[in-house]
Amino acid sequence: MTIKILPARLANQIAAGEVVERPASVVKELVENSLDAGATKIRIDIEKGGSKRIRIVDNGKGIVKDELTLALSRHATSKIKDLDDLEAIASLGFRGEALASISSVARLTLTSKPEAQEQAWQAKAEGRDMAVEVLPAAHPNGTTVDVVDLFFNTPARRKFLRTEKTEFTHIEEVIKRIALAYFDVSFILTHNGKQIKHYRQCANEESYAKRIGQVCGQSFLANAIEVKTHHNDLTLWGWIGLPQFSRSQNDLCYSYVNGRMMRDKLINHAIKQAYSEYLASDQYPAFVLYLTLDHREVDVNVHPAKHEVRFHQGRYIHDFIFSVCNKALASVSEPALYQDED
Ligand code: ADP
Ligand code: MG
Repeated sequence: MTIKILPARLANQIAAGEVVERPASVVKELVENSLDAGATKIRIDIEKGGSKRIRIVDNGKGIVKDELTLALSRHATSKIKDLDDLEAIASLGFRGEALASISSVARLTLTSKPEAQEQAWQAKAEGRDMAVEVLPAAHPNGTTVDVVDLFFNTPARRKFLRTEKTEFTHIEEVIKRIALAYFDVSFILTHNGKQIKHYRQCANEESYAKRIGQVCGQSFLANAIEVKTHHNDLTLWGWIGLPQFSRSQNDLCYSYVNGRMMRDKLINHAIKQAYSEYLASDQYPAFVLYLTLDHREVDVNVHPAKHEVRFHQGRYIHDFIFSVCNKALASVSEPALYQDED
């Protein structure tokens, strides 16, 4: 074999393998784009578990006509421009890969109108085989990304899709995780034309609890304590479930770092340890926790899907989370009561 540069479409499809695992990953990338664009209203319309259609409509800042094609190209991003930016990322996106990847494995239409532009424009890309076409369109301020026939040209991937119901459950979970991080944004989720969720914009902190209850269930809220602690630049805020509200699954474990949802080993370990004297070893705690710290203290460029981070001061963060949670639990619980007998 001789060495050859891969054609652009194939390179994008390979990248799509990392970013676009299933419909829910498309939803996550697109909603994150809407959030990065400053949207306060996001509508998510799903058909057939996302395999037929995923349409995201936002009222964000939009994309100017001349940049529509660029937005669909690989490594094209408006969010970072140099290494300094990469080392202090404040936006959810930065890799400039989502739209290129998604448009290489689906029929994608991007329609947008920035406020300052008279007319809306639309760019169409089908599996990236055709040159991107840009045509005038009708659209209010904001952006719509319409993704139809996901994996139509990658049959092996399409085969991996689960039932409509399972794929939609994954999408619902993505929306829950995002809704817990963006209280000031309203989300509407529909499936096959039916409204499934409507998270209203929270006007003030009092209404945050309402959304927590809507997403995690009223029983969680009734059995959780609020924590809020600062230490220098570090803040941990959120709700942790009482030990008696423990679960047999880790289905109510939500943690965020600077607004980004995480499945981070270090954070989970610290929380688990905080509960260790209160929970049996086969039980999971329920929690919604928000950690905020200086963007420079954390590296988010660890994994393509961005749900892991690297903390510069891991030990310190770990101990902070542990001690905040452990103290909160100690103030309301009797450890001995829940300890395994030996
Ligand atoms: P990234 O988010 O990593 O920059 P994407 O491929 O997801 O890469 O998006 C490419 C670019 O397209 C973004 O940097 C942004 O400028 C623009 N864009 C994408 N979606 C939206 C949206 N909903 N509203 C405004 N601009 C968007
Ligand atoms: Mg993005």
